[in-house]
Amino acid sequence: MKKIPFFLVIIVVATFFSACHQAEDQDFLQAEAVINGEAMAEYIKVLASDEFAGRKPFTEGEELTIAYLQQQFISLGLEPAFSGSYFQEVPLMEVEVKPAETMRLVSEAGGLVLNNLTDFVAFSRKVKQKTVIENTALVFAGYGIVAPEYQWDDYYGLDVRDKIVVVLVNDPGLATADPDLFNGNAMTYYGRWTYKFEEAARHGARGILIVHNTLGAGYPWSVVVSGAVSPKLFLQDEGGYAEFADVEGWLTTEAAEELFANAGLDFHTLAQEAAQPGFRAVDLNTRLWFEMESTFKYDVSRNVAGVMPGTDLADEVIIFSCHWDHFGIGPVINGDSIYRGAVDNGTTMAWMLEIAKAFGKLENRPRRSIMFLAPTAEEQGLLGAHYYVKNPAFSLEKTVANLNNDLMLPLGRMRDVMITGYGQSTLDDLVEEAAKRQDRYVIPDPNPESGMYYRADHFAFAKAGVPALFARGNVEHREHGREWTAQKEKDWLANNYHKPADKYDAETWDMEGIVEDAKLAFYIAWKLASSNEWPQWNEGSEFKAIRESYMP
Ligand SMILES: [Zn+2]
Repeated sequence: MKKIPFFLVIIVVATFFSACHQAEDQDFLQAEAVINGEAMAEYIKVLASDEFAGRKPFTEGEELTIAYLQQQFISLGLEPAFSGSYFQEVPLMEVEVKPAETMRLVSEAGGLVLNNLTDFVAFSRKVKQKTVIENTALVFAGYGIVAPEYQWDDYYGLDVRDKIVVVLVNDPGLATADPDLFNGNAMTYYGRWTYKFEEAARHGARGILIVHNTLGAGYPWSVVVSGAVSPKLFLQDEGGYAEFADVEGWLTTEAAEELFANAGLDFHTLAQEAAQPGFRAVDLNTRLWFEMESTFKYDVSRNVAGVMPGTDLADEVIIFSCHWDHFGIGPVINGDSIYRGAVDNGTTMAWMLEIAKAFGKLENRPRRSIMFLAPTAEEQGLLGAHYYVKNPAFSLEKTVANLNNDLMLPLGRMRDVMITGYGQSTLDDLVEEAAKRQDRYVIPDPNPESGMYYRADHFAFAKAGVPALFARGNVEHREHGREWTAQKEKDWLANNYHKPADKYDAETWDMEGIVEDAKLAFYIAWKLASSNEWPQWNEGSEFKAIRESYMP
């Protein structure tokens, strides 16, 4: 037998591997090339058509939308995600609340009357037809935060079981602009109103009122009001949300000033103190009277998902997501009442469908499975996504990552890749790598105080511990630069966001930026799906401990 020189073996083996690698790259590049803007526009024309009537859950718009997505998933070669079905039923409850016109407050100094909508809004998810609050004490509990990793406990030594807690919006990092306090200006989950309601429930508070300000909330009081006057959807809860507060509401800053002054206290002084470590809750020496009535309706909406199975790691999954729902038919604005949601979230559905198409074109299937998930009822509080993570098709410890998008503006190609929630996880490194391929740079969301990381579907995954990414070009247009881009975004938010004017416009839309973002996400997912690496939450992320609690 003739001996083969060792160096020759090395050369042959090395050549084989590099040829393999090249073939894979060639395969990837060919698949990537199928992502295109014309196809995206075709999906959007249908999804944002008058016929689809704004894609509202429980309406004919839902039926049309989910049937359309199913049909696309089938033609893209995806398999049903939920034991033979592309649909996952999401049981929802619609709550309509009629609050009394006023809230009466009494302190030693006298009485104070606050008016519904101008001074406060009040709500309750509790399954209870009539809520009566009488002679109930108020306590100022700072930011209403319990955060062990920051040694922070606004409920320390406090029994709030028959009290209404008054808390501040956002977290102490923003108020103090101290980068070492929480996450500095960037909002943490502790800053979100959803968190504050959950924390109040954990302490059994009778009620909770959050003091609004525009900077801290990320939106003006008018948004709080429009959210409060329309019926709200929740996931159905077996216990009827018994642990939640009887009153979940907001106060304007002006109302809080009056309320504190009526109790002989200065709101702004206490608010400043509340942002300092070691702050302890303050009794507001005030009693509250208030009533409201609730009605409930029950219905079922659906998430839609298809899966491209992997090979040797097919039980592990990377999940793309983008919500399908929007607001349906609503108040007339400029003679139009159809809230078509072409950008919210038509463009993103097009982004996801084109990524699915590219995965279908790969000759070498990646090792891990890829799921394409369109959750319902995002606009009502990420409900479809929250339901999915509670009832996942792949268990969470087998869920590698979530790549979500929302509100992708068709402004054209961008020089940047903006990461909302920058620094949260090691997924940022993959974005960096993918951005370089496209001659783009990575930039953190310039407005992290608005808490966008906690306001779209990827957050449902993050909250369940799954590393989740929200990234797209958004800051610097390749030809027009930064100011132009910022102005365009601002105009869009003012004129089109959550309005009938959010519709497809062949004249002004440029899909090429979304095409590039789809290629970017395709690369990231392909890389992850081809490896056995597990992205991690970074040190200091509020989601790290949750992930570690169930990972093997
Ligand atoms: Zn959206």
